[in-house]
Amino acid sequence: MRQTTASTCCYCGVGCGVLIEHDGERILDVTGDPNHPANFGKLCSKGATLHLTGDLDARAHYPELRLGKGLARARTDWDSALDHAANVFAETIAEHGPDSVAFYISGQLLTEDYYAFNKLARALVGTNNIDSNSRLCMSSAVVGYKRSLGADAPPCSYEDIEQSDCLLIVGSNMAYAHPVLFRRLEAAKAKRPEMKVIVVDPRRTDTCDLADLHLAILPGTDVALFHGILHILLWEGWIDRDFIDAHTNGFDELKSMVRDYNPAMVADLCGIGVDELQTTAGLIGTSKRFLSLWCMGVNQSTAGSAKNSALINLHLATGQIGKPGAGPFSLTGQPNAMGGRETGSLSNLLPGHREAGNASHRAEVAEYWGVPALPEAPGLSAIELFDAVRSGKVKALWIACTNPAQSMPDQQKVHEALVACPFVVVQEAFFTTETCRYADLLLPAASWGEKEGTVTNSERRVSHVRAAIDAPGEARADWAITCDFARRLETLMRPSQASLFAFDAPSAIFEEYKLLTAGRDLDLSGLSHELIDRLGPQQWPFPTGSTHGTTRLYGDGVFPTDNGRARFLAEQYQAPKEKREARFPLTLNTGRLRDHWHGMSRTGTAARLFGHVEEALLSMSGDDMRRRRLLDGQLVKVRSRRGELLIPVHKDDSLRPGQAFMPMHWGDRFLKGMGVNVLTLPDFDPASKQPELKHAGVEVEKV
Ligand code: SF4
Repeated sequence: MRQTTASTCCYCGVGCGVLIEHDGERILDVTGDPNHPANFGKLCSKGATLHLTGDLDARAHYPELRLGKGLARARTDWDSALDHAANVFAETIAEHGPDSVAFYISGQLLTEDYYAFNKLARALVGTNNIDSNSRLCMSSAVVGYKRSLGADAPPCSYEDIEQSDCLLIVGSNMAYAHPVLFRRLEAAKAKRPEMKVIVVDPRRTDTCDLADLHLAILPGTDVALFHGILHILLWEGWIDRDFIDAHTNGFDELKSMVRDYNPAMVADLCGIGVDELQTTAGLIGTSKRFLSLWCMGVNQSTAGSAKNSALINLHLATGQIGKPGAGPFSLTGQPNAMGGRETGSLSNLLPGHREAGNASHRAEVAEYWGVPALPEAPGLSAIELFDAVRSGKVKALWIACTNPAQSMPDQQKVHEALVACPFVVVQEAFFTTETCRYADLLLPAASWGEKEGTVTNSERRVSHVRAAIDAPGEARADWAITCDFARRLETLMRPSQASLFAFDAPSAIFEEYKLLTAGRDLDLSGLSHELIDRLGPQQWPFPTGSTHGTTRLYGDGVFPTDNGRARFLAEQYQAPKEKREARFPLTLNTGRLRDHWHGMSRTGTAARLFGHVEEALLSMSGDDMRRRRLLDGQLVKVRSRRGELLIPVHKDDSLRPGQAFMPMHWGDRFLKGMGVNVLTLPDFDPASKQPELKHAGVEVEKV
C-alpha cells in the first residue's frame, strides 16, 4: 500500500523537508514538504531525485571482515564482527593507551549518532581523538562566531534573506550549493528589485547572475577586502558608534589597523577596481538591513578564521546584527554539521558547545555521564589525525559515513595512512566509496529513508528525520552499530559496571543528550522527537517550557561572552599558503556542481544527475589555454607539489587568467590517477585547523 512519510533531505545544510512516497519496501517518489519552514515544498534537483538513488547494487549489505592485510574481506555476522572490533580496540588501548585509537565521523550523521560516538570516544575509550569531516567544512566559521560573538551560534534565519536590503555573498556558489535558499533569494529580489546583491567570488558563477555587483577578487584576499570596506565605512562615517560603544570591545585597535587598508592598496591587492570597492562599502554603509552569507570560499583557507572575524567586524561596526534582515549568516555545507558541533563532534569540543580543553566543562560532562573524568590530552583534528595514523601513533581507526580517501587533501598521504593502519573499521552505507577498499572490517549502515533521528540546519532549526523503509540486507542504523560496539567494549574495559549505552531508540539518546544543553547558548532541553512531530521543526534555543523556537539571536545587544560584549578582531591579511610561481603558475579552486554531492556515492547512482555535467573537467580561461596550446576537451596532466592527475580541459572564461577550477566530486573511481584532492594542500588554519582546499598551486600541460 502506498504511504507517505515526512522526513528531511540528506544533502545540504538548507535542511529541506521531504515527503517520501513508499510501499513499505521501496521508496517510490520524493516531493517537497509544503509544511516545512526551510523550503515550503520546494526541492532542488538533488532532493527531487532522492528516490532514484536507492541503487541496491552500490549498498553494503553484510558485515565483512579480513584477518590479514593481503586477504580479501569475507562475509561475517554482526556478533563476530563487533566482538572482533571490540577485542582489537581493547587490546590496542591496553597496550598503547587510549590515544592510539581514533574516530573519524561525518556531518551527515544524525545528532543521535554523533552523541553515541562522542560518548564512546570520550567517556568509554578516554580519548579526544574524535573528529569529523565538518573540520573540512565549517570549523573556521565555528572559530569566527566564538571569537567575535562568544558562541558558535549563527544568529540569523532564512527569512532574513527575504527581509534584507543588501546581501553580501562571499565564497559561495549558492545557486549550486544551497539551491532552494537561492530560489528564495531570487524570489525576494524579483519582488523587491531595489534589494542589492553583491557576490564576492574569484569565479563568475551562476550565483553572480543575480548580483548587482560581482567582485572577482584574487583568490584568498578576502581579509584585505573586508578591512578595506571597513576603512571606507570609517572614512565616510557609516558606522554605528552607539552600538559599538554599548555592545562591543576592541574597536580602537581594529580602527587603527585598518587605517593602512586604503582603497588603492586594497583594490590592487584584491585585483578589483577602487570604484567597485567604494560602491560595495557604500551599499553596505547606507543600507538599513545588511546581511552576509558565506560558505567554503571563506572557510577552506589557512586564514579561514581571520576571514570570518573580519566579515563579522563589518556587522559589529555598523550595528547590523540581531535585527530582521541583518547579520552574519554562514551557510552550512552538510545536512547536520550543526548537530555535530552541538554534540561536540570536533576533537576540541564537548556536548552542549563545551570545550574539551576547559576543565570545568570536562567535569560537568563527566559528572553527567557518571564517569570519573574525561580525557585532558588534546584530540587530533582531521589532518593531524591522518598524519598520526600514517606515522603509526594511531593504530586502530573507525571511520563512519565519510570518505576520507576521496575528500581529504593531499590524498597520497591519506592513502599511505590507510594502508599502514593496522586496523581500519569503515561504517558505511555504500561499499563503492574509495575508503571502503581499505577497510579491514566493513559495517553496513542504514542510509537516508531507512533511519531515524534529528538534524539541525543552517538556521538552527531541528527537524525529525524519519525512516520509511527497512535498510537492505543486514544494514543497521549508525547509532545502533555504535552502541552495540560500545557495549561489547564496555565488557572488556569496565566489566560489571552499568552500561553507558543502554539506549533502545534514537529518542532515548536525544532525551539524554538534550539535558546536557540546558542553560547553554543552544539550549535544546525543551525539545523532543514527540514535540517536533507535534509542533514542527524548531529553532534553538528552545529551553524547557518553550512553546516556539528562537528566530533571531542578539536582538538585545547582549552576547554570550564573559562581559556580554561582542569582540572586534584585528588580524592582518595573510596571503594563501602557496604563492604563484613559475613551476606552478595557476591557482586551483575546487567546489561543487549543481547536481552532485560530495564523493557521489549516492548522486553517482542516478543517471539523470549526470545530465548537467557529464564528466569531471578542469576549467581554465581561454588565455591560459592558448598560452599552453590546449584545445577544448583535450586530455591534460594537472600537477601540484603533491601529485598529478589526468583530466579533460574545458575553456571557461568565467575564470580570470591564472586560475583553474575543478569540481570536488570525482575521486579515483572516475579519474585516471587519483581524484582532485591528490592536488590540494593539507596546510590548515592555525585556529580552526581547517585545511586550505581552495588555493593549490598547479601547472597544466599536454599529455
Ligand atoms: Fe536537499 Fe539542499 Fe536541495 Fe534542499 S537545497 S533539496 S536540502 S540538496
